[in-house]
Amino acid sequence: MSVLAQLKPRKGIDDLVVYEPGRPLEEVAREHGIAPGDLVKLASNENNLGPSPKAVEAMKEAATRMHLYPDGGAFYLRNALAKKLGASPDMLIFGNGSNELIEFLGHVFLEPGLNLVMSQSAFIIYKLVAETFGAEARMAPMRDFTHDLEAMADLIDENTRLVFVANPNNPTGTRVNNDALKSFLDALPSHVLPVLDEAYVELLAPEDQPDSLNWVKESQPLILLRTFSKTYGLAGLRLGYGVAHPDLIHLLGKFRQPFNVNAMAQAAAMAAIEDEDYVQQTRTCIREGLAFFERSCTELGLETVPSCANFILIQTGEGRRRFQEMQARGVIARPMDGYGLPDWLRVSVGTATENQRAMDVLRELL
Ligand SMILES: *Cc1c(COP(=O)(O)O)cnc(C)c1O
Repeated sequence: MSVLAQLKPRKGIDDLVVYEPGRPLEEVAREHGIAPGDLVKLASNENNLGPSPKAVEAMKEAATRMHLYPDGGAFYLRNALAKKLGASPDMLIFGNGSNELIEFLGHVFLEPGLNLVMSQSAFIIYKLVAETFGAEARMAPMRDFTHDLEAMADLIDENTRLVFVANPNNPTGTRVNNDALKSFLDALPSHVLPVLDEAYVELLAPEDQPDSLNWVKESQPLILLRTFSKTYGLAGLRLGYGVAHPDLIHLLGKFRQPFNVNAMAQAAAMAAIEDEDYVQQTRTCIREGLAFFERSCTELGLETVPSCANFILIQTGEGRRRFQEMQARGVIARPMDGYGLPDWLRVSVGTATENQRAMDVLRELL
């Protein structure tokens, strides 16, 4: 008999599913006997340019102070970011990745009998968080790989507390029309909090960016989630933030551990938000990478979904098998069966050399 047999974990725990992340380089290297340096990871939408040199410098400087606990209130980062966003400092909350903020939302709003609304092929963490709190994740079908806001509105009832719109969406790379989004938000019942997950928003050209920040500043009930993991190339540090009315920020803060954001992350982020050149360079790299993938896939007769993020969906057929075959040849992509897209692979945009390698391997397999 297991030594754990007498323990009594909470109800429903056997049904909880663990998130399947992109495979870490070292793990795949060990498994396939490939040197980590010979592997290309295009599985987690990281910025393969590496962090901003300014952020690296700030981290080196911060390293000598790592014997100290971080500033739990992130005073300097909070003020610097507030200034950059034109928001007030009390409209911000920081998380150990924006994933942690999604969990805070669960703590504040979800319990058994309640639900959240999302799209079928949207970021799966929303669903996992709903289940963690014993709530239901209602999934609306998408239209052309894009959030179908009408279908989402149809799923909302008196027990709905949150509705998630990832814009641009992961894993489809699509975004919603700004006016359509505004009408959707305006028509929501007042007991539903819209969550706009903008993990990739900085990649959009300024003229394509949604007006969401202005809506928050106008005190509309709404929260934006953003992250330093993608455009800013700091995924390893785990830092995300939410922007919302101070009253909502206050509620979310009740579930924040005092030191959830580490001091290295705070130092790096402050430098990163000042490095406009790096963001520009990232946008260019992604634009060129996406064009490369679209062109190469067309040549191979493979469908893609037009993307405005730093990854692209490719219809390879038998996504999980292709993922494994590519991995054995040193390229890590992401299978999409967990998102209801078994024929598709999601490939993050890397450097030009990495993108080329991914397409070479795919061509070889087909
Ligand atoms: C990557 C991603 C996040 C969060 O990432 P963190 O590293 O936890 O900040 C959130 N939402 C979407 C849609 C993402 O793709």
